[in-house]
Amino acid sequence: MSNYSICLDIGGTKVLGAIFDGDGKIVHRIKKKTRSSDNSINVEETIVALVNELMSEFGIRSDKIEAIAAGAPGIINNDTGVVLFTPNLPWRNYAIKESIEQVFGIPFFIGNDVNLGVLGEWTFGAAQGLDHVVGLFVGTGLGGGLIINGKLYSGHQYKGAEFGHMILNIDGPQCNCGQRGCLEAFSSKTGMSDYIRQQIRHGRSTMMESAVAEGVFRSKEMKNAYDAGDAVMIEAIDRACMYLAVASGNLVNMFSPQMVLFGGGVMEALGDVFLEKIIAKVNAFCLPSVRDSVTFAVAALGDDSILFGARALILEHRG
Ligand SMILES: [Zn+2]
Repeated sequence: MSNYSICLDIGGTKVLGAIFDGDGKIVHRIKKKTRSSDNSINVEETIVALVNELMSEFGIRSDKIEAIAAGAPGIINNDTGVVLFTPNLPWRNYAIKESIEQVFGIPFFIGNDVNLGVLGEWTFGAAQGLDHVVGLFVGTGLGGGLIINGKLYSGHQYKGAEFGHMILNIDGPQCNCGQRGCLEAFSSKTGMSDYIRQQIRHGRSTMMESAVAEGVFRSKEMKNAYDAGDAVMIEAIDRACMYLAVASGNLVNMFSPQMVLFGGGVMEALGDVFLEKIIAKVNAFCLPSVRDSVTFAVAALGDDSILFGARALILEHRG
């Protein structure tokens, strides 16, 4: 019986891998840091190595694996398995599905990581049974995912639901996409790190100084500073939550979802704090008629949302 499956979450800074048994339980897992800044990284080799490592550690061969699936950042055609574009990893029009299937001789599926995160929460987590869900995943970047009428909505050419680049202030801080004032520039770890560095330049002191010295802080460092009552960190979080509330209000008014779901590394670390702060602000930005019929929730599967979404992708293709 080939009823195990292997699911991967290929992030810009880390890779998660898991073996699921036939009942959908994770029976083995691997977590690794990646170096996406190094353009010589071979993503395909990384996936192959990770799959081989999972199989050898768990002690099974590929004939026991039904399928492999992965979530990755970027614009991905999850029907053909072609990665059209990705901002953080060196992939362009890359037919990765065929390559991986040739190596292992088993089906391989791939989709946008946040889309799969929402799919995972919708199939197995906080949003089960709902037909209309807006997902916001807060990490190094800020990704979006959308379930409409009981289906994942990817937009034309899989380019849709980029809620992180909703522009909230045209005079706001610079975003990685080239625009100013995107939700991502305020509320992602990148946006919060930029804000903290700006405050340090203004002469303020914070225990986050070394955490943001070389880029983006880690979620654990954010949590430690928050727990210690660091004023600059709390301010950055309050500001992030204010803009998440504005964006959520806009999305609620546009889509009237049953749930706005918050996931990603930031929520895994401080989800309840973020959720409370967002809910405290969001009413002001929602039309009263739609506010009454939406709930706000944190992802139930935590760091594993995308792994479970990859598993859902395999089940979908099984039919
Ligand atoms: Zn942007």
